[in-house]
Amino acid sequence: MNAIPGQDTESGFAVEPVTRQTFDEVMVPTYAPSSMVPVRAQGLNLWDQEGKQYLDFTAGIAVTGLGHSHPAVVEALRTQADKLWHAGNGYTNEPVLQLARALTEATFADRAFFSNSGAEANEAAFKLARKYAHAKFGPHKSRIVSCLNSFHGRTLFTVSVGGQSKYTEGYEPLPAELLHVPFNDIEAARAAITDEVCAVVVEPVQGEGGVMPADPAYLKALREFCNARGALLIFDEVQCGMGRTGKLFAYMGYGVTPDILTSAKALGNGYPIGAMLTTETIAAVFTPGAHGTTFGGNPLATAVALRVLQIINTPAFLARVNQMAQYLVGKLAVVVRDYPKMFSLVRGSGLMLGIVLADQYLGKAKDIVKSAEAHGLMLLIAGPDVVRLLPALVVSEEQIDEGISRLRQAIDAVIEPTSVNQ
Ligand SMILES: *Cc1c(COP(=O)(O)O)cnc(C)c1O
Repeated sequence: MNAIPGQDTESGFAVEPVTRQTFDEVMVPTYAPSSMVPVRAQGLNLWDQEGKQYLDFTAGIAVTGLGHSHPAVVEALRTQADKLWHAGNGYTNEPVLQLARALTEATFADRAFFSNSGAEANEAAFKLARKYAHAKFGPHKSRIVSCLNSFHGRTLFTVSVGGQSKYTEGYEPLPAELLHVPFNDIEAARAAITDEVCAVVVEPVQGEGGVMPADPAYLKALREFCNARGALLIFDEVQCGMGRTGKLFAYMGYGVTPDILTSAKALGNGYPIGAMLTTETIAAVFTPGAHGTTFGGNPLATAVALRVLQIINTPAFLARVNQMAQYLVGKLAVVVRDYPKMFSLVRGSGLMLGIVLADQYLGKAKDIVKSAEAHGLMLLIAGPDVVRLLPALVVSEEQIDEGISRLRQAIDAVIEPTSVNQ
């Protein structure tokens, strides 16, 4: 029997130990990671190189919705890993068709396109909107309206559509015909959505922009204006979708249906995958060759995402998310009440929550997150003035209690730095 090349060389693959210091030596410095290096995680527990345990209230930025290493998801990946990893888009495959069927049955959509990230799902959505308007109305209808403070990804197109100029500075020239309007401002949207507009894109709950839910009246107004002007309404649910708000997708809670919806982050629970969902009519302009990606719809990613969707999209699972969200909001409201000089309010939707800093502590979200990490709690910021909590959707009351206890210790240490002895 002929050996498979590489099969008998396990001992030849030894690697040198690495630390946080190694990052500065070998990585392009696009990130400034924490000094702790995670090595293992299970559920909401995570351990670093030193064996210190953390309670993870970030879920890898709303990615590991089912917690780390969910057994059923690991099983789906293992099973698919033994069958087929990749064949390319010259062939379809069983998991991708099963996932597309499940997503279209669960939502307004009739058709799915798969990508590898949120940015690519949005890139596909924006290209589709342009192409649809071009085919239906002509090239003059090309403007995309989006919201200030929004975030849609980091490719040049998506970062330009996103409404935070700090992310586009230095990358000019930027794509043209993009217009930004203030979020939740109906009159500004009315004025901006003219006949030149091919699409309006909005996050039903802004994530990076400060954990800010859209007003129901705002999304309803966007729907009306889009209908009146023949523009497509795109909901970016990359962060707020997949059960995060207590509905499978946030639009279901608003009762406003988009023409295109994008998903990613929690869709693969940590296995990279994004999706763009739309109607049959709109999808029809993406004819063979109009758009594509090598890895999108890959069998490993889609087998994992199918299992994730099956678990999240049940009434019992989503009811439990809402229950835990209520419990966590209640606890956070007490924290805000106990520290009125530090915090002004809790806002968000479901298990996508932000505590907003008050005057005296404006700009200090990073310090609180850093202190929380020292006290064994992983948190995020959403801009300089908001501490963001995105625990896995499977979080328990006990874990919320423990997280709140660690948060209080972290806050006390920020208020009185001398009380930290470590
Ligand atoms: C994270 C995020 C993106 C970008 O997703 P990537 O996978 O990082 O490309 C887009 N939109 C929203 C709302 C996000 O939160």
